[in-house]
Amino acid sequence: MNLAYSAEYERFRTEVRRFLGEHWNEAPSGAADSIADLTGAHVRTDARATAFRLLAIERGYLYRHVPRRYGGSEQPGDPLKSTIIAEEFRRARAPFEIMGQGPSMLVPTLLEHGTEAQKERFIRDTLLGTIRWCQGYSEPGAGSDLASLRTRAVLDDGHWVVNGQKIWTSNAREAEWMFALVRTEPEKAKHDGISYLLIEMNTPGIDVRPLRQMTGDADFNEVFLENARVPADNIVGRRGQGWVVSRSTLKHERALIGGAHLTRRTFDGLVMLAQAVERGGRPVIQDPVIRNRLAELEARLVAAEYHGYRLLTLSARGNDHGLGGMVTKLYSTTLGYDIAKLAMDVVGDRGLLAPGEPNAPAMGMFGLAYMWSLGVLIAGGAANIQRNIIAERGLGLPRDARK
Ligand SMILES: Cc1cc2nc3c(=O)[nH]c(=O)nc-3n(C[C@H](O)[C@H](O)[C@H](O)COP(=O)(O)OP(=O)(O)OC[C@H]3O[C@@H](n4cnc5c(N)ncnc54)[C@H](O)[C@@H]3O)c2cc1C
Repeated sequence: MNLAYSAEYERFRTEVRRFLGEHWNEAPSGAADSIADLTGAHVRTDARATAFRLLAIERGYLYRHVPRRYGGSEQPGDPLKSTIIAEEFRRARAPFEIMGQGPSMLVPTLLEHGTEAQKERFIRDTLLGTIRWCQGYSEPGAGSDLASLRTRAVLDDGHWVVNGQKIWTSNAREAEWMFALVRTEPEKAKHDGISYLLIEMNTPGIDVRPLRQMTGDADFNEVFLENARVPADNIVGRRGQGWVVSRSTLKHERALIGGAHLTRRTFDGLVMLAQAVERGGRPVIQDPVIRNRLAELEARLVAAEYHGYRLLTLSARGNDHGLGGMVTKLYSTTLGYDIAKLAMDVVGDRGLLAPGEPNAPAMGMFGLAYMWSLGVLIAGGAANIQRNIIAERGLGLPRDARK
């Protein structure tokens, strides 16, 4: 197998590198950046980062799948070029495409199902981080079984009047807008009665209450909606077709969560940690049990990377990779959890110290990564559910018993 890039692509890499060398020369801020990488929490949207992104869009490097009239760079689909750009921007630590729920999930959904007015109103500002979004899908009693959702929307005088409750809504306090699933046809079968609405968060009747999670932060929220009036035009897709629209968003959410490059970075950090931490007067990496576990994890990581190459090859040839993205999400999040678990074993009790505590190893980064890794196993569809879908639709195994 030849994994080298052809001369044409190596020339493209040189061109991207030259662009970065000329236009982005800020030094990374070290450990703080690494933590941000692990949690995906930190995205620069200051004036300098925005000016740089606009230039990179003009040159055709960012948001290549988005038409120019909506603020993208509209380039022919070329997964290898996209990979080279991502690799080089990451290496230079330059502002890349914003990866939040808005740009990575809502924008592709609007491109597929939105009206012209919705595309013009929302896409450009979302790509630059000027409009931030949250995702109002889950409800108490409607998580894995999302189609059981009960938040109602009734049409009244040119508005949807929305009543109900969302839960686990990440970033709802920072977001200006929410894309949400609501029930508009309660008499229909559960998947057929759902619509997809764009709701402005400052609409009267919306109350956001933070939920504190085990990392100590409160990224999640409950969102209560009481007679919140949403303009009738803010529906994406047709009334009652929200389930089909939401499938498109979920597909992109899984693509957002998966990907071996971040796992590789966490693994490399784990190896450095095992070299630095000493037990019984010797670096932990010399312990044969730890070495075995590291070797096993690296083998799984290499498998994940090769799986990524396989999907890339399929895309480059214009083929759909079916459930491949779901396999990526399941595999990489499970592996991320096992890497974080080994890191906790390497640091021992001190791994329990919170980020910022003076004695916390690696600034508490691995404790945070461990807790985070548990969350991403669930976000975008819990691992058990993913296994069921891969088994049934991918491997053709008998269906799981349904309620
Ligand atoms: C980090 C994070 C961020 C999130 N952000 C958002 C957000 O922004 N917006 C949003 O709407 N939601 C968000 N969620 C919610 C997420 O979509 C749900 O947690 C997820 O769909 C699971 O639903 P649940 O929590 O209700 O668990 P449940 O559906 O109650 O599941 C509980 C457990 O039972 C298992 N289970 C359930 N049904 C089956 C079955 N049929 N077969 C086998 N096992 C089963 C599940 O695997 C899980 O282990 C987020 C969650 C996390 C962890």
